[in-house]
Amino acid sequence: MQTKYIVVLGSLLSGIGKGIVASSIAKLLSLYNYKVMPLKFDGYLNYDCGTMNPFRHGEVFVLDDGGEVDMDFGTYERFLGRSISSDFSLTGGKVFSAIINKERKGDFLGTDVQIIPHITDYIINRLEEVAEKEKLDVMIIEVGGTVGDIENSYFVEAVRQLALKRKTIFIDVTYVPELEKVGEQKTKPTQIALRGLRQEGIQPSFIVCRSGRTLDEKIKRKLALFSNLPVERIIDDHDIDNIYETPLRLVDQNLDKMIVNELGLEHWSINQKGLDEWKAGFTLEKPRDVTISVVGKYVDLKDSYASVKEALVHAAWHNNAQLRINWVESEGLESGSGTEALAKSDGILVPGGFGVRGTEGMIKAIEYARVNKIPYLGLCFGMQLMAVEYARNVCGLKAASSEEFGATEHVIINMMEEQKKISNKGATMRLGAWEAKIKPGTRVHAAYSSDTFWERHRHRYEINGDYRKTLEEKGLVISATTPDNGLVETIEWNSSFGIGTQAHPEFKSRPGKPAPLFSAFIKSALHEETGPSEGRYSYSQSASASAGRKPEGRA
Ligand code: GLN
Repeated sequence: MQTKYIVVLGSLLSGIGKGIVASSIAKLLSLYNYKVMPLKFDGYLNYDCGTMNPFRHGEVFVLDDGGEVDMDFGTYERFLGRSISSDFSLTGGKVFSAIINKERKGDFLGTDVQIIPHITDYIINRLEEVAEKEKLDVMIIEVGGTVGDIENSYFVEAVRQLALKRKTIFIDVTYVPELEKVGEQKTKPTQIALRGLRQEGIQPSFIVCRSGRTLDEKIKRKLALFSNLPVERIIDDHDIDNIYETPLRLVDQNLDKMIVNELGLEHWSINQKGLDEWKAGFTLEKPRDVTISVVGKYVDLKDSYASVKEALVHAAWHNNAQLRINWVESEGLESGSGTEALAKSDGILVPGGFGVRGTEGMIKAIEYARVNKIPYLGLCFGMQLMAVEYARNVCGLKAASSEEFGATEHVIINMMEEQKKISNKGATMRLGAWEAKIKPGTRVHAAYSSDTFWERHRHRYEINGDYRKTLEEKGLVISATTPDNGLVETIEWNSSFGIGTQAHPEFKSRPGKPAPLFSAFIKSALHEETGPSEGRYSYSQSASASAGRKPEGRA
């Protein structure tokens, strides 16, 4: 079957959850057993997200193949329950660099290279190539930004042309504001935005309306009239607490069936069991409360830690608990504020991060967790600082620190050998899924119930092999390493629950299938952990520090 396309775009404003709509539709079509994948276009000229600041752009999501992509990919993977390849992330940077490379190679000899047709044709070919390679029944294309932006204008033109050639439908995600004092929902912004969409030659087949509360019937009718659509094609997507309920809400409005019809797909029926399983992933019975403090320096923009938050939520649900997160600004801890939050929490987590700012506060939080036996989970940076804290306060190496923060007498965390030769900043870290070998009898082994794990990485520094012995002698457990034992992958305290992982297990967590370390952490926060007891760490380990190795078969 030739691939059919669904283009999800916004004509009014961005940041209203197009990604959740695209993911929900992908989820529903996958429950019909169609092979469906989402592709995202972002108009910025960065090649990928790797060089962007999470404080401005939100989290950088990492794929198995090492792609550093927009945080919407996290939503796609969590909804679809499938790993996505970098091919599905298209950026302005990728498009223009491909065209300029072609021009330099002489592919366009004799012509002046233009947005139309060269850029637009390239985009259409690329979309078809990816769809063909993956043998997709349906590709869902999310257009980042808003129609009318200069940044995505040529992409919008390309998908308009795609629709002339292939079965393609458009879904407009809009926002219906409400005047607080008057209590009336307003359609005018959408009416005007629809004019803009028509100017680009696009007629949506469905309009998904984000709003604060249920859409009034008369508002639906008005929108239907102004958009040349039957009223049932105006979809209510008002705010809800749990984004994972969105697919169910779309089913209630028959959007799945209408899309299947509109695309002329074969009439299979939805896998009701799959839909029920999805629902079971977040249906709780008399849940307990669990409070976790997340100590970071980007806490003002929660999107910076989107996957960490979702992974905590999935793990809490899995353990029939309702999660509360205290976002603790790490710089504040340095001057003594925020300690009350730590005292009131069932668990403390330090996520990934870069640069020295706020790190002394994170180290204080880790010390607080260790001394007070509060369960601790450290992710990447949070593991590196866990090792620094241990070196300083248990091994007595007061000057212990990371090379990332400048020269010091005891460099506990240093730059990986292979990183030292690299000067480019884009896509040059240790990235993507790597295999780790787990020591039996450790908490990490109990959490994964396996001798190995594959988790995604994104870092330049690691635990300095020269200090492995010192740390181990003082009781720090090295519970996983790369298969050649060259790099430390996880560490543990031996007196209470504290795990640090060099990887980012949050990227692979899904509702109903939480990341094992997050689940163990929440279990421990709920006082239900069944990991190894004190004194079981009897093995010894050599401290060789040969360079890491890429697992076979990795791109
Ligand atoms: N800054 C650290 C490094 O590059 C940690 C990175 C991270 O937490 N993702 O190694």
